[in-house]
Amino acid sequence: MAYQTVNPFTNQLIKEYPPHSDADVEAALQKADALYHSDWAKGDIDQRLPVLHKLADLLDSQTEALAKIASQEMGKLIAQSRAEVKLCAQIARYYADNASGFLAPVKYPSELGEAWVEHHPIGVLMAVEPWNFPYYQLMRVLAPNLAAGNPIIVKHASIVPHCAETFAHLVREAGAPEGAYTNLFISSDQVGKIIEDDRVQGVALTGSEKAGAIVASQAAKKLKKSTLELGGNDVFVVLDDSDLEKAVSVGVQARLQNAGQVCTAAKRFILHENIADAFLAKFTAAFGQVKLGDPLDESTTLGPLSSKDAQETLTKQVNEAVKNGAKIHYGGKPVEGKGNFFEPTILTNITRDNPAYFEEFFGPVAQVYVVEDDDAIVRLANDSHYGLGGAIFSQNIERAKRLASRIETGMVYINSLTDTAAELPFGGVKRSGFGRELSDLGIKEFVNQKLVVVSNK
Ligand code: NAP
Repeated sequence: MAYQTVNPFTNQLIKEYPPHSDADVEAALQKADALYHSDWAKGDIDQRLPVLHKLADLLDSQTEALAKIASQEMGKLIAQSRAEVKLCAQIARYYADNASGFLAPVKYPSELGEAWVEHHPIGVLMAVEPWNFPYYQLMRVLAPNLAAGNPIIVKHASIVPHCAETFAHLVREAGAPEGAYTNLFISSDQVGKIIEDDRVQGVALTGSEKAGAIVASQAAKKLKKSTLELGGNDVFVVLDDSDLEKAVSVGVQARLQNAGQVCTAAKRFILHENIADAFLAKFTAAFGQVKLGDPLDESTTLGPLSSKDAQETLTKQVNEAVKNGAKIHYGGKPVEGKGNFFEPTILTNITRDNPAYFEEFFGPVAQVYVVEDDDAIVRLANDSHYGLGGAIFSQNIERAKRLASRIETGMVYINSLTDTAAELPFGGVKRSGFGRELSDLGIKEFVNQKLVVVSNK
């Protein structure tokens, strides 16, 4: 795919970025591999961490400019773009402050003698990343792996080349040596060849189930480690004892944030029958208040989808859902005119034989289900190919905790939307992928946890 910046609010082509050649790929591999074998990567972690501190400061000091680039390139509301840049700074700082502790040797009491596990980098990694959080996705891979000493080659999504290039420049400006982080505008075939290369030891992909399956199988063929952060069909459960006002306002945000293009967005609203009518009435009224418009205008509350393709895919999915019996309770159509807008939409009456029941809708479309009790909630929540996040609203925290334990996902939040923070693990189960990013777990994915034993015999 061509690497192009097209403003999703105007559909105007802003800039094309020439693709990198196979010779560029080879040069990137050589530099990354040379760095991996250098003292910078294999030696003391204290040489690497200042890069992350500096990067955090650069992100903080350039928030406004960076936010504008993202909003113009993929349509995120400007306030949300600023929040994303701030979160990136927090992640960089978090690993700068904590990576030494996470990677310190761990002693293992043993009958065989003195034993400990050391943590070493494993080599060059290939990262494939999506456009929906064009900086945060990169930071989730960069920060822990720069700290650990793994050089990274990155293929970002083809619709966010400006963000990709800007981020790579910042990493260099922060003091990362050549080869520590290389952005390449390359094709899927070139990614496949990089994964095959003996100098590469792992691959991290965030994106769709389809891309994840391809990239993971390429890695598996060469017996390389992979982590996959894929799609989700997260539930937003509203119990009959919840604070309805709060559930509604958080629910609207959980479905419409980033124009609904969030892996952990609330996609299936599961309502207890006792509050279903009241919730739906308030939720619909709130959708009615949404203001579509320019992502750079502070008063806009719903921006465009990231591309024409995204708008067309969502339109097809909604039409197909309706053909199979779903009812449009609110919205339901793409917005005519400039920009890739889609109306905030609520679908009801979705039965299990409707393809919509199992699909991820990557846009402002909420599915609503009504159930009679907690067991039915668990059955419906777990009847999904995905298992990423989920939210439960209740004023009875013990009841919510019991439900949280029964839901088959990698993350569950009680009385909040599914959120993210540097110190909390992020990832899913089932077709939402495997492995974790962020926290202490994220930094252990691509390190050699090497056991050393001094025998006592
Ligand atoms: P996508 O099509 O899979 O694209 C993601 C990345 O994979 C892009 O860089 C894309 O490049 C690349 N790609 C696609 N096919 C490839 C192949 N065969 N080989 C190598 N690279 C390939 O995903 P998307 O539709 O843009 O992104 C949305 C999806 O990502 C949703 O399903 C969402 O839930 C998921 N997501 C998950 C998380 C998480 O943490 N779990 C976070 C964000 C998003 P091109 O752009 O050049 O096609």
